[in-house]
Amino acid sequence: MSDELLQRLRRFHIDTFPGVQEQFRNLVRDGQHPSILFIGCSDSRLVPYLLTGTGPGELFIVRNVGAFVPPYDGWSEDPDLKKPRRWVGYHGTSAAIEFAVLYLKVSRIVVCGHSHCGGIRALYDKVNPQARNLAAWLDLGREAVLPEAVTAESLRRTERRAVVLQLEKLMGYPMVREGVKAGRITLHGWHYVIEDGEVHVFDGHSGEFVAASDSTHSGTGPYHPIEDSTAHAVFNGFDDSYIFVI
Ligand SMILES: [Zn+2]
Repeated sequence: MSDELLQRLRRFHIDTFPGVQEQFRNLVRDGQHPSILFIGCSDSRLVPYLLTGTGPGELFIVRNVGAFVPPYDGWSEDPDLKKPRRWVGYHGTSAAIEFAVLYLKVSRIVVCGHSHCGGIRALYDKVNPQARNLAAWLDLGREAVLPEAVTAESLRRTERRAVVLQLEKLMGYPMVREGVKAGRITLHGWHYVIEDGEVHVFDGHSGEFVAASDSTHSGTGPYHPIEDSTAHAVFNGFDDSYIFVI
């Protein structure tokens, strides 16, 4: 039986790699210095390098179901204080955020959801009982769920609400919060519409997603420093009082 995957690996090594060898050797010699942390859904149709026109060394990527950001504080809470607190954090994504900010010193953090997201759709469905980790993980998007019938339109709104929710959770990471406050880090909420091939970026001032072709920026995030009075209608400074306007 021919192993197609093995053939692809060999093709990369023989045909593709020689053309980019120099670039990779430089990245090994100088180390990686990506300026963007890309938090995206695992969906196979979301291809970060294609969307952003980036190549090796430019994106530090962490992907998961739904493009969710776990809370910074992963300690279990027992309201009766009968059980000792234990660490139940979702380490993978949180660790990547901490590494990207504290060690790589990224200046942009992108949260990228997308249309027809199975993770968001699953928020409205029963999860297979064997998928215990998936069921727990989906709780991270629960707040975005709308109390209405599932339609294509409501799913799209949920996908976008989930992106903004994750931006909020990013601000729960002290190193992110400090970076944003100091103007060293900007947050970008994106919603990629697969069938149109277009990213809609979140505008923190209007509280809306704007098609990249109509936008004057790549997403401002809900916590951009206040530049004009209209910003107050959307969020209140750097506190956690962001108002959904979607
Ligand atoms: Zn998805």
